[in-house]
Amino acid sequence: MSHSTAPLTIRMHATDNVAIVANDGGLPAGTRLADGLVLRDKVPQGHKVALRDLAAGEAVVRYNVPVGYARQAIPAGSWVHERLLDIPAARALQGLPMATRPAPAWEPLAGLTFEGYVNVDGSVGTRNLLAITTTVQCVAGVVGVATQRIRDELLPLYPNVDGVVALEHTYGCGVAIDAPGAEIPIRTLRHISLNPNFGGEVLVVSLGCEKLQPERLLPPGSIPVRDGRDAGPDVVCLQHEAHVGFMSMIDDIVARARPHLERLNARKRQTVPASALVVGVQCGGSDAFSGVTANPAVGYMADLLVRAGATVMFSENTEVRDAVEQLTARAASPQVAEDIVRELAWYDAYLDRGRVDRIANTTPGNKAGGLSNIAEKAMGSIIKSGTAAIGSVLAPGDKLRPDQKGLVFAATPASDFICGTLQLAAGMNLHVFTTGRGTPYGLAACPVVKVATRTDLARRWHDLMDMNAGRIADGEITIEEAGWELLHLLLDVASGRRTWAEHWKLQNALVLFNPAPVT
Ligand code: CA
Repeated sequence: MSHSTAPLTIRMHATDNVAIVANDGGLPAGTRLADGLVLRDKVPQGHKVALRDLAAGEAVVRYNVPVGYARQAIPAGSWVHERLLDIPAARALQGLPMATRPAPAWEPLAGLTFEGYVNVDGSVGTRNLLAITTTVQCVAGVVGVATQRIRDELLPLYPNVDGVVALEHTYGCGVAIDAPGAEIPIRTLRHISLNPNFGGEVLVVSLGCEKLQPERLLPPGSIPVRDGRDAGPDVVCLQHEAHVGFMSMIDDIVARARPHLERLNARKRQTVPASALVVGVQCGGSDAFSGVTANPAVGYMADLLVRAGATVMFSENTEVRDAVEQLTARAASPQVAEDIVRELAWYDAYLDRGRVDRIANTTPGNKAGGLSNIAEKAMGSIIKSGTAAIGSVLAPGDKLRPDQKGLVFAATPASDFICGTLQLAAGMNLHVFTTGRGTPYGLAACPVVKVATRTDLARRWHDLMDMNAGRIADGEITIEEAGWELLHLLLDVASGRRTWAEHWKLQNALVLFNPAPVT
């Protein structure tokens, strides 16, 4: 237990030749472990200790896979830090096991519900928000002023509306808008404006001269039809000749917001099955406990949600790349396995253009937290996806079809903000985020449930973390109990309970993934 003075190490698999130290503050040299092994070095919390003598060149095994190769002989009881390890080569994307062991069909999990907002296209919101879509960064300041006025003057009149969100971004002009890859930021913006938490109301503010014209952002047919007519997006153009002076722009945006707010305000939460949930899972500020506590709890919850008929998305290309073999084997069909390979091959080529590879992923904080390299980080990261068959794959910026239920690999960068932005575009209505080092991450468009990997973090960040999975390492609850607890927390949050990030109004920026050039 990390609270007691008894030394505690955690080994993930019987074949592992290293374990991690669980105790707060680590363990000093000379500590005798339960099995009699004596530490030769001080080993920090979350870091690895050699359980037996390792020869130079021998595989260091954690999660039953090599997470590195010893650069020199490492005696039993030594601290196995990153400088002692060479990283394994990335698995080639040829000759992979394709859909060789998808999970069998499971017993459905019936009876789980939440209180949500049903949209005309059949999707369900967990929040009732007015979004103001923008075509270009130039309008961001004006939209910011208008949004504040809507908040101050209009929201008190529409108490069923949870808030107003300005969809600001850096795209729209000064970009090579016809270059290969430009379709990604464009479709991302289009699909975010249609996120289930915005109720199908689309209000656009455009400058007028930008490359990303409103009809390119939202072509005919992209907005769900209301009352039998496709009126297209409601657009306020700042350069329109009717605008004389700054206040006329603000007045126009505020006036145009009214009918949208009226329709949103008329909506009521209603009981819907948990299958309406579209949960994006992500991690950030990871440490060696991420793959031991929080991510396994999220994985167990993901399996429960899949059994309940919901959609669970996992992402983060560079954090799954080293586990590609496990993912293609788990694909529901050879076609899905090929889709996984296609997306990861595209991302390999993208990284290669910048003369890096997936090794560029890890941070100083990851390493301080005990994660030696991306191979070790990936093994802990993919546990979030649970054990279900991978039913489909989304390219960056793509939107889920209504029939894409179950476990989905949404191929995105691992950057917290870019991944969250792309999961919003996919149609995420609830976000689960695990962290070991700690991050105050939050989004304006969607509730973010944050899960701490360690009790020490949960204690210090008691009003930022929504759940403490560190209790698993402390021996207080099992992974299964934590998974159920998280599932019930998600249903509560989906029904309107506020997360800490919502309480403090912590909202990170939308960050678009633009692999195309700027001009
Ligand atoms: Ca991340």
